[in-house]
Parts: sequence; structure tokens; C-alpha cells
Amino acid sequence: MSTNANIQTSTGIAILGSTGSVGKNTLDVIERNQERFHVVALGANRSVDVLFEQVQRFSPKYVVVSDPDYAKKFAERLSRLSNSPKLLVGNSGLCEVATLQEVDCVMAAIVGAAGLMSTLAAAEAGKIVLLANKESLVMAGNLLLNAAHNSGATLLPIDSEHNAVFQCLANVANKEVKAGVQKITLTASGGPFLKTPLNKLADVTPEQACAHPNWSMGQKISVDSATMMNKGLEVIEACLLFGLDITKVNVVIHPQSIVHAMVAYRDGSVLAHLGFPDMRVPIAHAIAWPARIDSGVESIDLTDFSGLEFFTPDLNRFPCLRLAIEVQNSGNSASVVMNAANEVAVQSFLERKIKFLQIYDVVASVVDSSEPVAINDVEVIMSIDRQARAAADKQISQLVH
Ligand code: NAD
Ligand code: MG
Repeated sequence: MSTNANIQTSTGIAILGSTGSVGKNTLDVIERNQERFHVVALGANRSVDVLFEQVQRFSPKYVVVSDPDYAKKFAERLSRLSNSPKLLVGNSGLCEVATLQEVDCVMAAIVGAAGLMSTLAAAEAGKIVLLANKESLVMAGNLLLNAAHNSGATLLPIDSEHNAVFQCLANVANKEVKAGVQKITLTASGGPFLKTPLNKLADVTPEQACAHPNWSMGQKISVDSATMMNKGLEVIEACLLFGLDITKVNVVIHPQSIVHAMVAYRDGSVLAHLGFPDMRVPIAHAIAWPARIDSGVESIDLTDFSGLEFFTPDLNRFPCLRLAIEVQNSGNSASVVMNAANEVAVQSFLERKIKFLQIYDVVASVVDSSEPVAINDVEVIMSIDRQARAAADKQISQLVH
């Protein structure tokens, strides 16, 4: 893709996690709007075939491969290109590209805690941070928000529900507008097991859990959607992003995923955001904000959706959502523990070491046995994260043997 003619006026973007579902959708939006954006850097972990194809297509100046072994092999492939980008390795490489002067905007689309340091680096460097990586907010919400406040960085939500809330909360920086917010509602599809008989849930497979009815996403968030831990993480994300107490954040099951969120104001007005379940909508909104650009997605016609349904989630079916709400009430270190244990448990489920319902068992037991710790810096967070992972591994090995 050649954007050189417009390079002075176009926005320079680093996409961290470019080979994933959000990363690919971001490149799709950029490709449709080449006059506005140019890709300065791409980053991924091991999916080097996709990354190589993206390098050829978007000619970034920098490319990061996190895994050092994969990076070595990737270097050989890059050396065959006539216009090869500079290759950086590991978390330090991700942080380096997130803070480059020529990068205006960082898409934080790495999955899990692996995205924390680079997201934080982008916020500290005053970038426009497009925040898909909800785990970094759940782990280090206050640090991230303070870093953005101190540097003047702009955090824009990519998670579809939060992006929708953001759009319905126009002018919320005005204190009177904020005081008028009665509650926000995040919708949830309910995932693939919304109606599965409870006695069948014990034996569902990773393939079934990843077959989301409405959204096409990476494996981890797909499993999180099936357990509704995803909505739990999103409740925490919403409290932090919008400075709201958890009593003002509501979750409603909406199997059609057309309404993404609603904001109710004290005068009885309810503003909702509607659109097809396609991540290019929130990505296009945030990447061009406050302008509006083509995303490649049509707007909906309400006459096609006469049967929209909304109902209260069953917390017995989805105990991970209940756990996340309890964790948000009990303080920040518990969120770090829950997030870490969940990442380990989901990975073990994907590797068929534990059963679907054991994801909750593992996470709840690690959270229950953890002690609250005061969080002052990112080192403390990483240490809590490591301990929770070790505790989850131990739990899992006891279940397996
Ligand atoms: P994915 O699994 O499809 O892609 C993950 C990306 O992260 C890949 O590019 C992978 O190479 C990279 N990655 C993984 N580990 C890494 C590491 N150690 N270092 C560097 N890169 C690493 O995930 P996804 O579905 O695109 O989700 C990404 C993030 O966006 C998650 O936090 C998810 O919760 C959030 N999100 C996704 C969607 C969606 O529709 N997919 C919607 C809302 C929020
Ligand atoms: Mg979401």
C-alpha cells in the first residue's frame, strides 16, 4: 500500500496484535481510508506468516515479533525483501514502537496480560491509544488512566459496548452531563451456550465454545464470551473508563447483538448505539475520532430486526459474571488475580486439560485464596499476576491428576 504522497498529513499508526481478529479488522479499515492513515509499525507474537503478508501489503517501517525464536526465522524472511522494515523483538520492541515519535496512534490489540506493558508505554508517551486489550485496563486501570492523564494521551475504547457507551455519552466531560447519567447498560449476546441445558455444559468442547453466534473473534475472548467472563471484564472496564460506580453498570442479554449499549439519563432519556456486530464499526469510529469514515459496514434497517430481545442474565448459568462483579467490589488486586487465573484456565481448556465448567472453579478458587494487596506500580501488578498464574497452574494440575 503506498501512502507516501500524504505522509505529512496522514496519521501514523502502530498496530500491536496486527495478526489477530481486531488487528486484521483495523488493517481493513485503514486500507479503505489510505489517504488518512499510514502504518508505521506492526507487531505480533508467533503468527509470522500472516505478519509477513501484512508487511508486504502495508510496508511498515518497523515490525515486532515478540517470540525471540520466531523473530530469528522472521529475520531471514525479511532479509529477502528489497524494502525490509526494521525488526524488533519482545516486549521491549513493542514498547519501543508504541512510543515512536512518528506514531500518533497505537492500536492496543494484543490479547491478555501480554499487552499491558506496551499499552502503558503508549499511554505514558501521550499517544492516542485505541484500547481493545481490555485485560490491561482490568489489571492496571488506575495506572493506565493516570498515565494518560499525566501525558495528555487519549484513550478511546474499541470494545464494541464501551465504544457504544462512549458515543452515547457525548459531552460527558461536562460535570452536569455526567451527574445526569443514571446507568449504563452493556449488552451481551449470551454466547454459544445461552440455551444449552445446564447438564450438558460439563462436556462442551473448545470448538463449540469458540463458535460464537454473532462475532468472529480470537479464541480467548470467544471462550470468555461463552463463560461470560468477557462481560465481567467489561463491567470492570466500564467502571474504570467512565468513572462509574458498579451500581450504575448494568448487563442485559441481547442475543441479536444489534444494540451494543445504552445510557439512561435522569430525565428519562435513553440513548442507545445500534449497528451490525462487526468490529470495523468501533474501530473506524475510534481511529478517526471525532471524524466519521467508511468502515465497510452498512448501517442497519430496523424493519429487518423486529424481534430484538433483551433479558436479565442468569448468574447461575454464568457464575464468572457474578465473580467479576464481586471482584470489582473488592478492589484492584483481586481483578489482577482473576484476570491471570482466567487466562491460565482458558488456555488449559483450549488445550483440553480441563473441562469448560472447571474454568470457573479454577478462577474462583484462586481468587478466594488471594489476599488483597495495595497496588502502587506495575511491578506489584506483575508480581500478583505471576503468583495467580502459579496458583492456577497448581489447581489445574490437581484437577488433572
Ligand atoms: P486474537 O487472538 O485474534 O489476536 C491476538 C493478537 O495478539 C495476535 O496478533 C497475536 O500475535 C498477538 N499476541 C498474542 N500474544 C502476544 C505476545 N505475547 N506479544 C505480542 N503479541 C501477542 O485476539 P483478538 O480477538 O483480536 O483480541 C485482541 C484483544 O482485543 C483482546 O484483549 C480482546 O479481549 C479484545 N477485543 C477483541 C474483540 C474481537 O472482536 N476480537 C472485541 C473486543 C475486544
Ligand atoms: Mg465487547
